[in-house]
Amino acid sequence: MTNIPFDDRDGYIWMDGEMRPWRDAKLHVLSHGLHYGGAVFEGERVYDGQIFKLREHSQRLIDSAAMIDMDLPMSVEEIDAVSREIIEANNIRDGYVRPIAWRGTEQLAVSAQKNTIHVAFACWQWPKYFFPKGGDDKGISLKTVKWRRPDPTTAPVQSKAASNYVIGTMAKHEAERVGFDDAFMLDYQGRVAESSGSNIFFVKDGQVKTPKAECFLNGITRQTVLKIMADMGIEAEETTIMPEEIGAFEEVFVTGTAAEITSVGRIDDHHYTPSAFTKRLQDAYKELTLKKV
Ligand code: PMP
Repeated sequence: MTNIPFDDRDGYIWMDGEMRPWRDAKLHVLSHGLHYGGAVFEGERVYDGQIFKLREHSQRLIDSAAMIDMDLPMSVEEIDAVSREIIEANNIRDGYVRPIAWRGTEQLAVSAQKNTIHVAFACWQWPKYFFPKGGDDKGISLKTVKWRRPDPTTAPVQSKAASNYVIGTMAKHEAERVGFDDAFMLDYQGRVAESSGSNIFFVKDGQVKTPKAECFLNGITRQTVLKIMADMGIEAEETTIMPEEIGAFEEVFVTGTAAEITSVGRIDDHHYTPSAFTKRLQDAYKELTLKKV
């Protein structure tokens, strides 16, 4: 499935109020969303036929839109309902859901006051984001890249806005080009931030630290993992972490809907060994994803 282009698959995509055959879910090339980055999206995982943290993702879609001055034409209940409908229509038990909203064709310049807001939902089967063929015991490798997370007054950092992902793509390419799995990104002040599509945690002597989510997405998985740890009696510290400090940690992991909890084996020339602590969190996270609500 992974090598088949996304426009040439069987199944259904919900678009602007109707369920369409997958290949017919098209938009015009002169859409504002394509030219000026006027789009927001979500990424959700389906575990055993149930979307994990559905309400949080549906609400974030609305909030992401509002942050880029876009009024989403659906309520949170409607987004929940269509998300469930799309996994049913495509018969997905374990996979990924992608809702997206974008500005249409009425205006094609910087202002977008008159553009219709379109919405679509797709879903597909999805293996692990890292190591789709298994073998994650050593963890992923991250490389410090030149691209940084921006000042929150410069970009809508808490919005899952398509425009924010240009930086992520450039960062990930920079890391992949020299053989690393993903990017280790600092923020505009040179503090440790996150990876290209996941948040990051550091562990030493049972103490956990994670950067404050000030200039990058405060991931739903990040918040879930903080809660799991709090329930275990572990108070993770949300704090400033400088790149000079990372060599002193014993364990590192990244979190995200796609990444779930993935161990990091290496950042540049620093090596880390995933141990029982990360495994315990991974087990607790897995259990939560399979809980029926
Ligand atoms: N940071 C970025 C840049 C992301 O794209 C994602 C994935 N949405 C995350 C962090 C993690 O967010 P979540 O846990 O909500 O998937």
